[in-house]
Amino acid sequence: MPSTMPAVVQFALQNRAVELREMAVPEIGADEVLLRVRGVGVCGSDVHQYHNTQSWTVSVPVILGHEFCGEVAAAGKAVKDFKEGDRVTSETAAEIDFGSPLTRQGQYNLDPGRRGFGYEIHGAMAEYVKVPARLLHRIPTNVPFEVAALTEPCCVAYQATVVNARVKPGDVVIVIGPGPIGLLCATMARLSGAGHVVLAGIARDRSRMETGLRAGATRAVDTQSQDMKAVLRSLGDGLGADVVIDSTGASASLQNALDWVRPAGHITKVGWGPEPMGFSMDALVKKAVTLQGSFSHTWPAWERVLQMLGSGQLDPRPYLSKVSSLDGWKDCFDGMHEARYIKAVLTP
Ligand SMILES: [Zn+2]
Repeated sequence: MPSTMPAVVQFALQNRAVELREMAVPEIGADEVLLRVRGVGVCGSDVHQYHNTQSWTVSVPVILGHEFCGEVAAAGKAVKDFKEGDRVTSETAAEIDFGSPLTRQGQYNLDPGRRGFGYEIHGAMAEYVKVPARLLHRIPTNVPFEVAALTEPCCVAYQATVVNARVKPGDVVIVIGPGPIGLLCATMARLSGAGHVVLAGIARDRSRMETGLRAGATRAVDTQSQDMKAVLRSLGDGLGADVVIDSTGASASLQNALDWVRPAGHITKVGWGPEPMGFSMDALVKKAVTLQGSFSHTWPAWERVLQMLGSGQLDPRPYLSKVSSLDGWKDCFDGMHEARYIKAVLTP
């Protein structure tokens, strides 16, 4: 076992303060495993940290990467269920407060003491990462690592679309923002039986929306040149969207969501950003709309998503634009920032 390894590290809270540097190979505790990373997705949040535009706390220096999978290279003394060589993927709640009421009721994703990989705890854009065994899930044998690396964003989409928005057969669903999470939400909405899945984007999203149309969405609307309200009048009973999923980080898109949702409809907001709103929420009251946030995921979503990946019911591969070695991290970050890539995965 080497003592150091190359890793993609954010070393300061400044624009472009990310580089490949040698870091110590982590030492594991009794209930942790050392994972030989075989796939790690680049998330929009990694790209935000690269540009220091994040709205969450980052402890530098930190190895980036929270969407990952690999093989168990070593298991701590107290680890019973996993052994060397096992193919696994990992949840993201690296540290949680076991005594917190939220943790004890299974909602550890919402525990205020939760600390995640890649911003407060060293992440997986490296050859090795240490992971508490409680976070691990087995990868079905027929799912390759570069697909298993997409389990985490699939779980974000599952939590938003299935657990929180509870899309039903026949629903008219709008997904605002065709980034990786929005596109995966569109796929999940279709799998949930939605009658219409409308992607809402702008001119620069065109090729991503075309990909979405091949992977579950039924319609793409460029909101700069097309009238969404006119589109909605032609769908379902014409009264608007049963469900709007807002996956953008722009606060202004919630105003569109309120405009497009039908009376007594539902909005799930999964994208976030620091900007204040700056518009009236009266439509929420007048239409008696339910507005719900969705954050992260828990154990049942992971098991379900992995079963769906194994059966082939869920296939996120249309959204996998680039697989690259760790050396190619910068092209992957820039490519996602510029919307040239939907999703990039690094294979350290
Ligand atoms: Zn992510």
